[in-house]
Amino acid sequence: RVLAAESWRAAVESRNKCINALIAVAPNTSTHGPSTSQTKSAKLEGLSLAVKDNIATRDLRTTCASRLLSDYTPPFDATAVRLLRDAGASVIGKANCDEFGMGSLNTHSAFGPVVNPYDPNARRSAGGSSGGSAAAVAAGFCDAALGTDTGGSVRLPASYCGVVGFKPSYGIISRWGVVSFADSLDCVGVLTHTVKGAQAVFDVIAQHDPRDPTAAPTHVRKRASAAVRKHAWGGEHTDGDLKGLRIGIPQEYFPAELSPPPGLHTLLSHLQSHGASLVPVSLPATRAALSAYYVLASAEASSDLARFDGVRYGQHVPPAPGTTASTADVYAHTRSVMLGREVRKRILLGSFALSAGAFDNYYLQAQRVRSRVRSDFDAVFRVPNALRAPPAASTSNPITDIVAPNEPGVDVLLHPSAIGPAPPLPSLEETETGKEREESLDTYLQDVLTVPASLAGLPALSVPLNPRSPHGDETNSDIGEGEWPVGVSVVGQWGADELVFRVGKVVE
Ligand code: GLN
Repeated sequence: RVLAAESWRAAVESRNKCINALIAVAPNTSTHGPSTSQTKSAKLEGLSLAVKDNIATRDLRTTCASRLLSDYTPPFDATAVRLLRDAGASVIGKANCDEFGMGSLNTHSAFGPVVNPYDPNARRSAGGSSGGSAAAVAAGFCDAALGTDTGGSVRLPASYCGVVGFKPSYGIISRWGVVSFADSLDCVGVLTHTVKGAQAVFDVIAQHDPRDPTAAPTHVRKRASAAVRKHAWGGEHTDGDLKGLRIGIPQEYFPAELSPPPGLHTLLSHLQSHGASLVPVSLPATRAALSAYYVLASAEASSDLARFDGVRYGQHVPPAPGTTASTADVYAHTRSVMLGREVRKRILLGSFALSAGAFDNYYLQAQRVRSRVRSDFDAVFRVPNALRAPPAASTSNPITDIVAPNEPGVDVLLHPSAIGPAPPLPSLEETETGKEREESLDTYLQDVLTVPASLAGLPALSVPLNPRSPHGDETNSDIGEGEWPVGVSVVGQWGADELVFRVGKVVE
């Protein structure tokens, strides 16, 4: 599906004001065609694309939804944006988000919250932090949007807005030109209407980039694809036959206090009736994942954001005339005035976790949890982890000699993307009186089902589990709460992005 230019512009003009998904819209006369040497492969010719505002675009501001960068226009395109423009996509605007990607509800933006377009009158959250990207797709402003996902920021808004959201394996899409929040977790992700659409965008941008030092090298990518080809489910047979597909259902993602989303049971029986087997699995480190994530992400943020001091980067706010201030005071003044509350909180928490007295108890402990989370996943997947394959010396061909499959492992995992449908946005009064502040730990809870895959760097795809889907479900006649979209996530081994898409198409 490709939207005609007039059609997206008309949709933006009539609805963006109330949804607040885009914070900059490409001018009518812009030169938003291919950025460099003419379109090499016009695979995405005419595709309209919204880009999260923490991803650099050479002709539109890139503010990270922060006052500190409110007048910054980069002189270059991020690699992902350049590749998409080269493939024929047009950037229609920059998408609202939580400041620097920190948040789950898209309420921490200098440009105001994003309103969920599913029913704007209900004033529910579009999810965060890529809320503007998800809402722009859901509202019909664009065919696709780029977001970033550090701990769930593509999958959560996709779930709340009823669109498809894909977070790739860590290191598969270049982060060059993406403003870092937590380097070891940040991924560029894709939001679209369909799984096929997400895969088309992914295929164009999933390339090794020498400018990103964390990009997975080509031989590791090859080793991962070879492992998947050799050991994983091969694909649908005739007529949707899923014989041989082993889907893991992680028990920790179904705690007693959460009722599974409507439609999930029906989906599972549908998959089973087509030959897939459902395998209960356990990922015991899951319960510690959320706390570990917030320690690690904040620690990395305190370092990644140190550059925004109003001197090297960011708008400078001079101290009051007549005051004498040290250099440190000058930096602190700009940061205190220009950064939002959530960002300041994370910088303080992160600096604390890295300080000499707290390092062992917080940062190191969180790293231990992270490695347990990774081992848990490796223990359940049939395909071995290509990042942990034996060193080249022990194999004759490091690319194709894959360690034995982990039998009887599973091909993918399946679980709800979020603990529920989109929550209401805080009222203006709650924001002003600080009531919202007291609830911020609840906000962190939204990510409980998405952070494990982030800590392990795994590919994860959220597909709408539409209560009115063709799978049908007797409980779907509910109106109100039951009508709000929720997503179901398909998670695969590192490098099994293509397999995740294949299964996602069956789930869709
Ligand atoms: N909600 C999480 C956080 O606030 C995840 C953010 C993200 O993935 N960018 O850190």
